[in-house]
Amino acid sequence: MQAIRVHQFGGPDVLRLEEAPDPQPGAGHVVVGVHATGVNPVETYIRAGGYAIKPPLPYTPGTDAAGVVEAVGDGVTTARVGERVYIYGTLSGAYAERALCKGTQVYPLPDHISFAQGAAIGVPYATAYRALLQKAGAQLGETVLVHGASGGVGIAAVQIAKAHGLTVIGTAGTPRGLKLLEEQGVGYVLDHHDPGYVSDALGATCGRGVDIVLEMLANVNLSKDLSLLAPRGRIVIIGSRGEATIDPRQAMSRDAIIYGMVLFNTPPDEMAQIHAALGTGLRDGTLQPVVGQEIPLAEAARAHQAVMEPGAYGKIVLVP
Ligand code: NAP
Repeated sequence: MQAIRVHQFGGPDVLRLEEAPDPQPGAGHVVVGVHATGVNPVETYIRAGGYAIKPPLPYTPGTDAAGVVEAVGDGVTTARVGERVYIYGTLSGAYAERALCKGTQVYPLPDHISFAQGAAIGVPYATAYRALLQKAGAQLGETVLVHGASGGVGIAAVQIAKAHGLTVIGTAGTPRGLKLLEEQGVGYVLDHHDPGYVSDALGATCGRGVDIVLEMLANVNLSKDLSLLAPRGRIVIIGSRGEATIDPRQAMSRDAIIYGMVLFNTPPDEMAQIHAALGTGLRDGTLQPVVGQEIPLAEAARAHQAVMEPGAYGKIVLVP
């Protein structure tokens, strides 16, 4: 099979398409023929070599994909040969024509969800679900600011929040991203580059503030987030690319909570709950991943450049 291999950490050009052995399933394993692979920002950090996770070289990147089960090992009860699945996590890497997974890393993909959409589920939807429900403990009727709502995690958060009866304020940084949020039914759509957007967000809550902020760029926004919070508000830091300065009194006066989270820290039982809930939302149509760009697997380097550029629009996926 063909797979992207990384032999040294560095820029996008270290992503090389090479011939690799076809994976063989051992006991408890599933081999998935990959039809589409999700590209997540974290894969660029890992590839650059500056992230906490440093896989042994050479490696094949990627956590998320969708495709069809080609083979199952002894003892697998979670998937059948020929079944459409999405995968969250692999043993062999998802930037490839085939992926070797544990039986617990594959989940059914409903027929009405395309493979490209299936590749957009794993990290983004699980992160959004964990942040909103398992961390912030969102309650019916609360208001959430999805700060960076036009990208992979943001769109997932919007859909999950709406399905749970929350009022959603969403931000994007381009006209195309703002239009996407309107199409997604976001109640209040704001441009995070507009100098007046913080007061507009407060105005959307009649000055009370938001109950929850899901933050995609905390180094830029954490201080603003605190000023936007209602009493007993919660901020979940999902993304940050540097340091931030805050006034702790902004948190004290509101009895606020700032959560940090990394999806990879999720315990297995809580991850199983997340995917069970996502499965329900995918089947009933409340969750509909948005794919903005499909790029050939051979051009993974271009995908890594694109995912770090401004102007997010849903998900970037690779197709073999
Ligand atoms: P993405 O698809 O590239 O989306 C990035 C989002 O951030 C876009 O909506 C973008 O909007 C927005 N953004 C850019 N500048 C912003 C600003 N000044 N204020 C607010 N938002 C801004 O990335 P993603 O996959 O959704 O991931 C988002 C972040 O979360 C990344 O940093 C990623 O590494 C991180 N993440 C963390 C976890 C975890 O476990 N903690 C899991 C998944 C992702 P425009 O492009 O329209 O400006």
